[in-house]
Amino acid sequence: MSATENLNKEESKRNLNFIEQIVEKDLQEGKNGGRIQTRFPPEPNGYLHIGHAKAICLDFGIAEKYNGICNLRFDDTNPVKEDVEYVDSIMEDIRWLGFHWENVFYASDYFGQLWDLAVRFIKEGKAYVDEQTAEEIARQKGSPTVPGINSPYRDRPVEESLELFYKMNSGEIPEGKMVLRAKIDMASPNMHFRDPIMYRVIHIPHHRTGTQWKAYPMYDFAHGQSDYFEGVTHSLCTLEFEVHRPLYDWFLDQFATGDYRPRQIEFNRLNMTYTMMSKRKLLQLVQEKLVAGWDDPRMPTICGLRRRGYTPESIRNFIDDIGYTKYDGLIDVSLLEHSIREDLNKRAMRVSGVIDPVKLILTNYPEGEGEMVEAINNPEDESMGSRQVHFGRELWIERDDFMEEAPKNYFRLTPGNEVRLKNAYIVRCTGCKKDENGVVTEVYAEYDPLTRSGMPEANRKVKGTIHWVSVDHCLDAEVRLYDRLFLVENPSEEKDCDFRDLLNPESLVIKQHCKVEACLKDVKPLDSFQFQRIGYFNVDKDSTPDHLVFNRTVSLKDSWKKQQTKN
Ligand code: ATP
Ligand code: MG
Repeated sequence: MSATENLNKEESKRNLNFIEQIVEKDLQEGKNGGRIQTRFPPEPNGYLHIGHAKAICLDFGIAEKYNGICNLRFDDTNPVKEDVEYVDSIMEDIRWLGFHWENVFYASDYFGQLWDLAVRFIKEGKAYVDEQTAEEIARQKGSPTVPGINSPYRDRPVEESLELFYKMNSGEIPEGKMVLRAKIDMASPNMHFRDPIMYRVIHIPHHRTGTQWKAYPMYDFAHGQSDYFEGVTHSLCTLEFEVHRPLYDWFLDQFATGDYRPRQIEFNRLNMTYTMMSKRKLLQLVQEKLVAGWDDPRMPTICGLRRRGYTPESIRNFIDDIGYTKYDGLIDVSLLEHSIREDLNKRAMRVSGVIDPVKLILTNYPEGEGEMVEAINNPEDESMGSRQVHFGRELWIERDDFMEEAPKNYFRLTPGNEVRLKNAYIVRCTGCKKDENGVVTEVYAEYDPLTRSGMPEANRKVKGTIHWVSVDHCLDAEVRLYDRLFLVENPSEEKDCDFRDLLNPESLVIKQHCKVEACLKDVKPLDSFQFQRIGYFNVDKDSTPDHLVFNRTVSLKDSWKKQQTKN
């Protein structure tokens, strides 16, 4: 191998995350016959969020990169909280992110196999039915430094456990009356080894298997075995499962023969500032109508981000940038915002939208006349071309682009000052009209005909450029200004208060009677635009041709603020 090849190899190795490094080593060692298989295992008890996207990118990404397969497996072992609504949304969101599963499986597909395996454990003296209450069992558990106490049922005859296990599933045993426990070691320093529960009784019908089962396997027993039945080679999960791994391996060791073993590898979960990711709390926000549903654009759910205007690429790039480690941390939500800005900067058409309009009248522009000016659709992408925009005597501009008495470093409209109207003329402000409350109702200016593009003074420099739309040709729109849902940086850490008290009351500000360019007449939900100088906006699903609704995806950096900090 040449020196450069060697270097390239080193280079690419450095860029591999620790999981890719493990996978490559396993491949080199010929483990599992060179096969790579992963799974994404959501519990269908809620909608997917940006944290799940991190797991999805890894599970599907590893399979893609190493020519393996990734299956979607619904971890539906608890009928109490699960629903088909969630199953459908999960599939839609994974597809939208751009990933493909090889098969769809359900943990409930394995209920029969898991049952047979549990029976085998009982027969081999490795599991027993415990008739104690949950409280009694918890009391005997001990602590990491104090050994637990054996259940009085621990050494009951195999036949007795078998008979009771069947009863647990026949409907004769009420919920909470008995459980099946693995017989491992009540003194183990790993608490998960202290006779973990394998099965419990639940009488609620299951969304797929109906009333066929009354005894349901617990996560620890179901997960590893499902991985094994399916042929998973690398079972990737978040760090909180690290302490479960010895148990994961123990269950497999009891029955698996041969070389093949799924291997559990843990990575850090995604936690993000100003964001709550617990499905239980997100459900609460939805149920208590504190947000407009799972797809409320303020939610960290995939469907919420989609409705907000996030693209799959922006989410995948963000996940790529933050990477995978062995340490939990808190990611700044501004990194996610940065990612969508970068993506939309490349693809979004630039248009004019005026959120808080005030009328600008060009007093020296001929009444009843108008003209078209050219606007570049996207300076970052020439192929997007340009369009013609109506210009005239009366324009809508942003209210805060005028100040009657402005500080020195204010480069927008103030009496005596010149600004460029984007794509059109330079105008000089001459004054304004106010109502009886002192609120500005009209701003006046004179335009300079020689400053239009193609004219001798077209390139004359002025310090400020502002956007506008023609009063006679614009469209009305509702604009929803979204902000962070929580007021505090780490809402999950605020243990002493109700998380609902931490909600940002200004996370949604609705602006009616905004004015947008006529070219937005036929927009469709999810279309994205840059409203020049303001931010990226997309069309909400509530939008109709008669009532346009835009969501602010993310703002641009505010040039006024930037100037303020500079001076
Ligand atoms: P629950 O609170 O209901 O257990 P969960 O967030 O663990 O929810 P699951 O549906 O069990 O949700 O998660 C599916 C997969 O997504 C799991 O492998 C889990 O580790 C991963 N996952 C969940 N939340 C995050 C997160 N914040 N960051 C990275 N991965 C996550
Ligand atoms: Mg879970």
